[in-house]
Amino acid sequence: MSNKDVRQVIILGGGPAGYTAALYAARANLEPLVIEGFAWGGQLMITSDVENYPGYPEGVLGPQMMQDFRRQAERFDAEFITDDVTRVDLSERPFRVWVRDDEYRAEAVIVATGAVARQLGLESERALQGAGVSYCAVCDAAFFKDHDVVVVGGGDSAMEEAVFLAKFASKVTVVHRRDAFRASPIMVDRARANERIEFVLDSIVEEIRDTDGGRVTSAIVRNVQTDEVREIPADGVFVAIGHDPSTALFRGQLEMDKAGYLLTDGKSTRTSVEGVFAAGDVQDHVYRQAVTAAGSGCQAALDAERYLSELHHAPHAPDVADEALATPTNW
Ligand code: NAP
Repeated sequence: MSNKDVRQVIILGGGPAGYTAALYAARANLEPLVIEGFAWGGQLMITSDVENYPGYPEGVLGPQMMQDFRRQAERFDAEFITDDVTRVDLSERPFRVWVRDDEYRAEAVIVATGAVARQLGLESERALQGAGVSYCAVCDAAFFKDHDVVVVGGGDSAMEEAVFLAKFASKVTVVHRRDAFRASPIMVDRARANERIEFVLDSIVEEIRDTDGGRVTSAIVRNVQTDEVREIPADGVFVAIGHDPSTALFRGQLEMDKAGYLLTDGKSTRTSVEGVFAAGDVQDHVYRQAVTAAGSGCQAALDAERYLSELHHAPHAPDVADEALATPTNW
């Protein structure tokens, strides 16, 4: 492979963060290569209506929105490989990235491989994703105004989602597989104090039932102590059993926290390796929204552009992160 085959930037991931980084990088003439993953689109592909992304006043289907993002980057000549990255070597520049036996090299890499919401693993859960089964209360709670819903999980996410859902739903039943909570006591107390929230403990969801039209109607729940099975009527099932960042490829190469999320430097998207940037859910376990992921994709492209300018000793744009810190009201 000759030096002329070394790209300026490779973007890993095809969700809101990756496509926004691609759009900005392409418009900055960085000619990005986007290795978007075989299942491009990320978590939006299992979401039906998205009503909280600005610019879509009538709402939009998650997969449609991802197609729009992708097309916009394509318009400025971002190049795509619709396959999964199988290996990376970030130990020296140019960085090396493989898709099976094909090697790609670049001066900068933006990691936007996202996170995956943990699933219960039920066939009925998979079939009803976007038809009453959801992994994001902030995104979908408003669709369940005056309806009954089930939340699965016993961690902080489950408690937070239950309390949020109770603002809309008539009844929220939290189903948790043990009688002790992983959630912090204050979060459990908050949920317990809410009269719309009920708890079904020591129980697992075995099946999610639907109507002929394919929308959720109930959850079949089994008590693991007594084996008693009951049906809980519900129009929505919110699975809140945690997320796993897609960072296995970077273990030992990029610094990450205990849960595997990539660590970035302050307000920037800089990772522990100079020239490698991280954007979206792969480095954010707090906000996890399409719009925040897109925002950080933009930041990563600007950070990469600045880094590449410095590398090539060309005049470059001012340091966006530093300027923001110096004059926060100018944003
Ligand atoms: P988590 O702490 O890992 O909790 C996951 C919960 O789901 C646990 O109760 C677990 O049960 C249950 N679970 C896991 N797999 C399951 C399965 N297959 N079937 C049924 N139940 C299953 O995840 P999280 O709640 O998303 O929290 C992640 C991190 O974010 C935590 O550090 C948390 O403190 C933080 N967080 C903080 C806030 C806040 O402070 N506002 C809000 C949300 C999240 P077991 O307990 O039996 O293992």
